[in-house]
Amino acid sequence: MEAVVAENVGRRYGETVALEGVSVTVETGEVFALVGPNGAGKTTLVRALTGTTDSEGRVSLFGESPRAVNRERIGLLPQSFDPPARLTPRELLGYYGGLYDGARSTDQLLAAVGVSEAADTHYENLSGGQQRRTCVATALVNDPDLLVLDEPTTGIDPAGQRALWGVLEGLADAGTTVLLTTHDMAEAERLADRVALLADGELVAVDSPASLVERHGGESLLAIECVDPPGSVTEGFADASLDGNRLTVRGVAPEAVGDVARTLDERGVAYESLTWRDPDLEDVYLELAGGSVEQPPREGRPVERRTVQPRTGDGENRGVEQ
Ligand code: ADP
Repeated sequence: MEAVVAENVGRRYGETVALEGVSVTVETGEVFALVGPNGAGKTTLVRALTGTTDSEGRVSLFGESPRAVNRERIGLLPQSFDPPARLTPRELLGYYGGLYDGARSTDQLLAAVGVSEAADTHYENLSGGQQRRTCVATALVNDPDLLVLDEPTTGIDPAGQRALWGVLEGLADAGTTVLLTTHDMAEAERLADRVALLADGELVAVDSPASLVERHGGESLLAIECVDPPGSVTEGFADASLDGNRLTVRGVAPEAVGDVARTLDERGVAYESLTWRDPDLEDVYLELAGGSVEQPPREGRPVERRTVQPRTGDGENRGVEQ
């Protein structure tokens, strides 16, 4: 059975259309990520799906309306959840556990999210990652079948993020349906079975990360940081663009990277680094929703030295960076 069915869901705030005509299904046991720029409607959709805001259209959770479904089946972590600073994780989970009959034991929850050792530390003294994992634990007290997390890893450091990923993967492996929103495409790609991209309140694409990348990710990218490149540097390449000193050549197979380097050498174009990468979910995002978002340049995988022979002698080209 589907955990979540949304049909033609819409929501307006005065003149603002926050959501329009959104239809989506989350299967039981699935990890489903909602991505999209700020203001795309992710939080509004989460709220519509969980019955915490009114909406047009039809929503059902496990076959029932969000407000009629047994609340013990749902765990919700809102985006802005800020527990009292002077409570410890043990106290906080004890409080939330008291709201349910048959809540999971506090010790079990602390262990499940990996904060047992900090169980008696005031919330304000926990690391960002420990804080967010504690918050996730509050959404787990009722052992939910569906866990809804609005930006669970925003604002925590990479180690904290990875620890939380481990927690969510463990829950998913144990059969919990997870619906999460995120701004982190690596997170969506790693955790989600399917990703839904929202832009301007509408659903733009829904599919597995691999299918989205295949369909919308475009070709592989070779990024070359040039030293003072002439405007004509893009000539002769089938698909190339110049942005500042960065020359991007698309659709270059890994074994053809050396040919590009030789072409530049023959033309006397010096470069500092040369980086090749496959398209990923971030490219999909930029392709489908990136119009309104300003993006910093992407990091890629450095090309190995054996692929491209750096020029020696004149010291002008360092060839490739490791
Ligand atoms: P996201 O979570 O993707 O950043 P939101 O769902 O928060 O997007 O917002 C979608 C749109 O709805 C935005 O234009 C936002 O300003 C508007 N919006 C959201 N909540 C409210 C509200 N309570 N009152 C008025 N406008 C709102």
